[in-house]
Amino acid sequence: MGINNLDTILQLIPTLNYVDTKRLNNSVKEKLDGDTVGKVIAEREQTVTDCPHCHAMNFIKHGVTAKGIQRYRCKDCKKTFCSLTGTPLFKMRMEDKWLAYVSMMWDGVPLRKIAARLRITLRTAFFWRHRFLKMPNQNQPASFTGIIEADEAFLPESFKGRRQMPRESRKRGGGKVPLVPFLVSYQRGDQYTFKVMDRNTKKNLSDAITPLLTDGCCLCTDGNLSYVSIVSDLDIKLDHKRIIALDGRVIDGIYHIQHVNSFIANFKEWLSRFKGVGTFYLPNYLAWHIWMRDKGYGEEYLWLQEATC
Ligand SMILES: [Zn+2]
Repeated sequence: MGINNLDTILQLIPTLNYVDTKRLNNSVKEKLDGDTVGKVIAEREQTVTDCPHCHAMNFIKHGVTAKGIQRYRCKDCKKTFCSLTGTPLFKMRMEDKWLAYVSMMWDGVPLRKIAARLRITLRTAFFWRHRFLKMPNQNQPASFTGIIEADEAFLPESFKGRRQMPRESRKRGGGKVPLVPFLVSYQRGDQYTFKVMDRNTKKNLSDAITPLLTDGCCLCTDGNLSYVSIVSDLDIKLDHKRIIALDGRVIDGIYHIQHVNSFIANFKEWLSRFKGVGTFYLPNYLAWHIWMRDKGYGEEYLWLQEATC
């Protein structure tokens, strides 16, 4: 754009009323969002090191897509790919609307409203949610050291978002909806991880917590006796502090499970805006929540950047 065009626009801004200024603001934001995604895609091109099909490093540039995304051709397997092949953004259209979509999704705006506001079909809105739910990457820490807090939480089981019930409904007497247990663990120093369990059994709990525990760590849990049994079965030496409400909520000033408890409370509070999420997607929502807690709410740009790594 020539400088004169920009000057003309800038000169006109003071003459706009509030509603028109807001409209201008929205279209500027839309334009900037589009550029941000363009930037992420361009950055992704710098990081392509091997063929996503066969992992050979022997590839050459092979034109650009209609959208200007670099294409490549592998000299080993002869297949072509672009810089987004293998990322959750592959073959996604209308990239100028992704960030606005994600921001509304995080705010819990219903799909129908998102579709109407962005002028996309409901089908696309469903498809995008599915894609975006898979991000951020669920790279969870493999093990913890030092003081570790762990606690279980529960949410009602839900088949929302699934075409078919994957198995017999577990509804028990009285028509009560079964609860889905998940374990949240925290390593002091600010690292969270989670594990959604099928049922609240000692074995499931053991499978969820045992891989995280390392020699010399200190595990803080509530009074659940399963942990006592799990810890006694371990080959490693560790300290186990059971935080029993009657004994006080903090032992020796440092041993408590208040971080995980407040994480769980915050997560449930945040989740309520979605009016119930399918159990199948619970790990995705947990991963998101941890991501936003670490990186900051509204950092859609960083999120997209990570998704294309
Ligand atoms: Zn290849």
